[in-house]
Amino acid sequence: MRTAGLIGGMSWESTALYYRYINEGIKNVLGGLHSAKMLISSVDFDEVALLQKRGEWEKGAEMMIDEALKLQRAGADFIMICTNTMHISADEVENALDVPLLRITDSAASAALASGVKKAGLLGTAFTMERDFYKGRMEKLGLKIIVPDEEDRQFVHNVIYNELCLGDFRVQSRMKYSEIIGRLRTEGAEGVILGCTEIPLLVHQKDSPLKLFDTTKIHAEAAVKMMLK
Ligand code: GLU
Repeated sequence: MRTAGLIGGMSWESTALYYRYINEGIKNVLGGLHSAKMLISSVDFDEVALLQKRGEWEKGAEMMIDEALKLQRAGADFIMICTNTMHISADEVENALDVPLLRITDSAASAALASGVKKAGLLGTAFTMERDFYKGRMEKLGLKIIVPDEEDRQFVHNVIYNELCLGDFRVQSRMKYSEIIGRLRTEGAEGVILGCTEIPLLVHQKDSPLKLFDTTKIHAEAAVKMMLK
Protein backbone atom coordinates (compact mmCIF):
# COMPACT_ATOMS: atom_id res chain seq x y z
CA MET A 1 0.00 0.00 0.00
CA ARG A 2 1.25 3.49 -0.83
CA THR A 3 1.28 6.19 1.86
CA ALA A 4 -0.97 9.23 1.31
CA GLY A 5 0.25 12.64 2.51
CA LEU A 6 -2.58 14.97 3.48
CA ILE A 7 -2.30 18.71 4.06
CA GLY A 8 -5.21 19.13 6.46
CA GLY A 9 -6.76 21.47 8.97
CA MET A 10 -8.55 23.60 6.35
CA SER A 11 -10.76 23.15 8.24
CA TRP A 12 -10.24 20.24 10.62
CA GLU A 13 -14.00 19.60 10.35
CA SER A 14 -13.42 18.24 6.85
CA THR A 15 -10.00 16.69 7.52
CA ALA A 16 -11.77 14.44 10.04
CA LEU A 17 -13.99 13.26 7.16
CA TYR A 18 -10.96 12.53 4.98
CA TYR A 19 -9.42 10.42 7.77
CA ARG A 20 -12.62 8.40 8.09
CA TYR A 21 -13.33 8.01 4.34
CA ILE A 22 -9.78 6.93 3.45
CA ASN A 23 -9.68 4.36 6.25
CA GLU A 24 -13.14 3.08 5.31
CA GLY A 25 -12.14 2.85 1.66
CA ILE A 26 -9.04 0.77 2.46
CA LYS A 27 -11.03 -1.45 4.79
CA ASN A 28 -13.74 -1.99 2.16
CA VAL A 29 -11.18 -3.24 -0.35
CA LEU A 30 -8.69 -5.10 1.84
CA GLY A 31 -11.05 -6.13 4.65
CA GLY A 32 -10.22 -7.38 8.13
CA LEU A 33 -7.96 -5.22 10.23
CA HIS A 34 -6.54 -3.25 7.30
CA SER A 35 -6.32 0.51 7.69
CA ALA A 36 -4.85 3.33 5.65
CA LYS A 37 -1.20 4.34 5.64
CA MET A 38 -1.37 8.10 5.76
CA LEU A 39 0.49 11.11 7.03
CA ILE A 40 -1.42 14.28 7.92
CA SER A 41 0.15 17.67 8.35
CA SER A 42 -2.57 19.81 9.87
CA VAL A 43 -2.18 23.59 9.73
CA ASP A 44 -3.74 26.34 11.86
CA PHE A 45 -6.68 27.39 9.69
CA ASP A 46 -6.80 30.85 11.27
CA GLU A 47 -3.42 31.60 9.66
CA VAL A 48 -4.60 30.34 6.26
CA ALA A 49 -7.91 32.24 6.39
CA LEU A 50 -6.04 35.46 7.24
CA LEU A 51 -3.76 35.09 4.21
CA GLN A 52 -6.81 34.41 2.02
CA LYS A 53 -8.63 37.47 3.37
CA ARG A 54 -5.59 39.69 2.75
CA GLY A 55 -5.05 38.21 -0.71
CA GLU A 56 -1.54 37.10 0.28
CA TRP A 57 -1.58 34.17 -2.10
CA GLU A 58 2.20 33.93 -2.46
CA LYS A 59 2.54 33.39 1.28
CA GLY A 60 -0.29 30.89 1.08
CA ALA A 61 1.56 29.03 -1.67
CA GLU A 62 4.77 29.03 0.40
CA MET A 63 2.87 27.55 3.31
CA MET A 64 1.34 24.82 1.14
CA ILE A 65 4.76 24.02 -0.39
CA ASP A 66 6.35 23.77 3.10
CA GLU A 67 3.63 21.39 4.23
CA ALA A 68 3.84 19.30 1.06
CA LEU A 69 7.64 18.98 1.32
CA LYS A 70 7.35 18.02 5.00
CA LEU A 71 5.03 15.17 3.99
CA GLN A 72 7.27 14.14 1.11
CA ARG A 73 10.32 14.02 3.42
CA ALA A 74 8.32 11.96 5.90
CA GLY A 75 7.69 9.32 3.21
CA ALA A 76 4.39 10.22 1.53
CA ASP A 77 4.10 8.67 -1.94
CA PHE A 78 1.69 11.35 -3.11
CA ILE A 79 0.27 14.57 -1.70
CA MET A 80 -3.28 15.89 -1.31
CA ILE A 81 -4.32 19.45 -0.45
CA CYS A 82 -7.46 18.70 1.57
CA THR A 83 -9.43 21.78 0.57
CA ASN A 84 -10.67 23.17 -2.71
CA THR A 85 -9.70 26.79 -2.10
CA MET A 86 -5.99 26.23 -1.54
CA HIS A 87 -5.80 24.50 -4.92
CA ILE A 88 -5.19 28.08 -5.96
CA SER A 89 -1.55 27.10 -5.23
CA ALA A 90 -1.73 23.66 -6.84
CA ASP A 91 0.65 24.44 -9.73
CA GLU A 92 3.32 25.82 -7.39
CA VAL A 93 2.98 22.84 -5.04
CA GLU A 94 3.12 20.37 -7.91
CA ASN A 95 6.26 22.00 -9.31
CA ALA A 96 8.00 21.81 -5.92
CA LEU A 97 7.32 18.10 -5.45
CA ASP A 98 9.01 14.94 -6.69
CA VAL A 99 5.93 12.87 -5.84
CA PRO A 100 2.52 13.41 -7.52
CA LEU A 101 -0.12 15.87 -6.32
CA LEU A 102 -3.60 14.34 -6.37
CA ARG A 103 -5.84 17.30 -7.26
CA ILE A 104 -9.39 17.62 -5.96
CA THR A 105 -10.41 19.49 -9.12
CA ASP A 106 -9.42 16.61 -11.37
CA SER A 107 -11.05 13.93 -9.22
CA ALA A 108 -14.30 15.94 -9.00
CA ALA A 109 -14.46 16.80 -12.71
CA SER A 110 -13.86 13.14 -13.65
CA ALA A 111 -16.63 12.00 -11.29
CA ALA A 112 -19.13 14.48 -12.75
CA LEU A 113 -18.24 13.64 -16.36
CA ALA A 114 -18.37 9.90 -15.63
CA SER A 115 -21.94 10.27 -14.41
CA GLY A 116 -22.95 12.06 -17.60
CA VAL A 117 -22.95 15.65 -16.30
CA LYS A 118 -21.52 18.08 -18.84
CA LYS A 119 -22.57 21.35 -17.21
CA ALA A 120 -22.28 21.66 -13.42
CA GLY A 121 -23.08 24.32 -10.86
CA LEU A 122 -20.26 25.13 -8.45
CA LEU A 123 -20.60 26.04 -4.78
CA GLY A 124 -17.55 26.97 -2.74
CA THR A 125 -15.74 29.95 -1.29
CA ALA A 126 -15.79 33.17 -3.33
CA PHE A 127 -12.18 32.39 -4.32
CA THR A 128 -13.19 29.00 -5.71
CA MET A 129 -16.32 30.26 -7.46
CA GLU A 130 -14.83 33.44 -8.90
CA ARG A 131 -11.20 32.73 -9.80
CA ASP A 132 -10.00 30.78 -12.74
CA PHE A 133 -7.83 28.17 -10.97
CA TYR A 134 -10.88 25.99 -10.28
CA LYS A 135 -13.36 26.61 -13.10
CA GLY A 136 -10.56 26.91 -15.65
CA ARG A 137 -9.06 23.57 -14.67
CA MET A 138 -12.45 21.86 -14.82
CA GLU A 139 -13.36 23.40 -18.14
CA LYS A 140 -10.04 22.21 -19.59
CA LEU A 141 -11.04 18.72 -18.48
CA GLY A 142 -14.30 19.12 -20.41
CA LEU A 143 -16.76 20.09 -17.66
CA LYS A 144 -18.66 23.35 -18.13
CA ILE A 145 -19.09 25.29 -14.89
CA ILE A 146 -21.69 27.86 -13.83
CA VAL A 147 -21.75 29.74 -10.52
CA PRO A 148 -24.50 31.51 -8.53
CA ASP A 149 -25.06 35.27 -8.85
CA GLU A 150 -23.11 37.67 -6.65
CA GLU A 151 -25.57 37.81 -3.76
CA ASP A 152 -25.81 34.02 -3.60
CA ARG A 153 -22.03 33.64 -3.87
CA GLN A 154 -21.58 36.00 -0.92
CA PHE A 155 -24.07 34.00 1.13
CA VAL A 156 -22.42 30.66 0.29
CA HIS A 157 -18.98 32.11 1.12
CA ASN A 158 -20.04 33.63 4.45
CA VAL A 159 -21.72 30.44 5.62
CA ILE A 160 -18.50 28.50 4.93
CA TYR A 161 -16.28 30.75 7.07
CA ASN A 162 -18.77 31.87 9.72
CA GLU A 163 -20.58 28.57 10.27
CA LEU A 164 -19.30 25.40 8.60
CA CYS A 165 -15.59 25.78 9.40
CA LEU A 166 -16.67 26.40 13.01
CA GLY A 167 -18.74 23.23 13.16
CA ASP A 168 -22.01 25.18 13.12
CA PHE A 169 -24.66 23.61 10.85
CA ARG A 170 -27.93 25.58 10.59
CA VAL A 171 -31.27 24.54 9.09
CA GLN A 172 -31.78 28.05 7.65
CA SER A 173 -28.48 27.91 5.80
CA ARG A 174 -29.24 24.44 4.45
CA MET A 175 -32.59 25.72 3.11
CA LYS A 176 -30.94 28.71 1.47
CA TYR A 177 -28.29 26.48 -0.13
CA SER A 178 -31.11 24.30 -1.51
CA GLU A 179 -32.76 27.38 -3.02
CA ILE A 180 -29.46 28.40 -4.61
CA ILE A 181 -29.08 24.91 -6.09
CA GLY A 182 -32.61 25.29 -7.48
CA ARG A 183 -31.57 28.51 -9.22
CA LEU A 184 -28.48 26.79 -10.66
CA ARG A 185 -30.80 24.16 -12.11
CA THR A 186 -32.89 26.88 -13.75
CA GLU A 187 -29.66 28.20 -15.28
CA GLY A 188 -29.05 24.80 -16.87
CA ALA A 189 -26.85 22.98 -14.35
CA GLU A 190 -27.19 19.19 -14.57
CA GLY A 191 -25.37 18.53 -11.28
CA VAL A 192 -23.64 20.50 -8.53
CA ILE A 193 -20.01 20.34 -7.46
CA LEU A 194 -19.85 20.87 -3.70
CA GLY A 195 -16.52 22.60 -4.16
CA CYS A 196 -15.84 23.20 -0.50
CA THR A 197 -14.92 20.29 1.70
CA GLU A 198 -17.31 21.36 4.52
CA ILE A 199 -20.47 21.86 2.43
CA PRO A 200 -21.24 18.10 2.48
CA LEU A 201 -21.59 18.43 6.26
CA LEU A 202 -24.52 20.81 5.66
CA VAL A 203 -26.17 19.79 2.39
CA HIS A 204 -27.09 16.22 1.59
CA GLN A 205 -28.49 14.62 -1.54
CA LYS A 206 -32.05 14.76 -0.14
CA ASP A 207 -31.76 18.57 0.08
CA SER A 208 -31.00 18.93 -3.61
CA PRO A 209 -33.00 18.64 -6.83
CA LEU A 210 -29.72 17.99 -8.68
CA LYS A 211 -27.08 15.30 -8.28
CA LEU A 212 -24.42 16.46 -5.82
CA PHE A 213 -20.71 15.79 -6.18
CA ASP A 214 -19.15 15.70 -2.73
CA THR A 215 -15.55 16.73 -3.35
CA THR A 216 -14.36 15.51 0.06
CA LYS A 217 -15.63 12.00 -0.57
CA ILE A 218 -14.55 11.95 -4.22
CA HIS A 219 -11.03 13.14 -3.33
CA ALA A 220 -10.78 10.54 -0.55
CA GLU A 221 -11.94 7.79 -2.94
CA ALA A 222 -9.32 8.85 -5.48
CA ALA A 223 -6.71 8.62 -2.71
CA VAL A 224 -7.74 5.04 -1.90
CA LYS A 225 -7.35 4.09 -5.58
CA MET A 226 -3.93 5.71 -5.71
CA MET A 227 -2.85 3.95 -2.52
CA LEU A 228 -3.80 0.55 -3.89
CA LYS A 229 -2.48 1.06 -7.44
N1 GLU B 1 -12.47 23.74 3.02
C1 GLU B 1 -12.98 24.76 2.19
C2 GLU B 1 -12.69 24.45 0.73
O1 GLU B 1 -12.75 23.30 0.36
C3 GLU B 1 -12.75 26.16 2.60
C4 GLU B 1 -11.61 26.38 3.50
C5 GLU B 1 -10.48 27.04 2.81
O2 GLU B 1 -10.56 28.21 2.57
O3 GLU B 1 -9.48 26.37 2.51
O4 GLU B 1 -12.47 25.31 -0.06
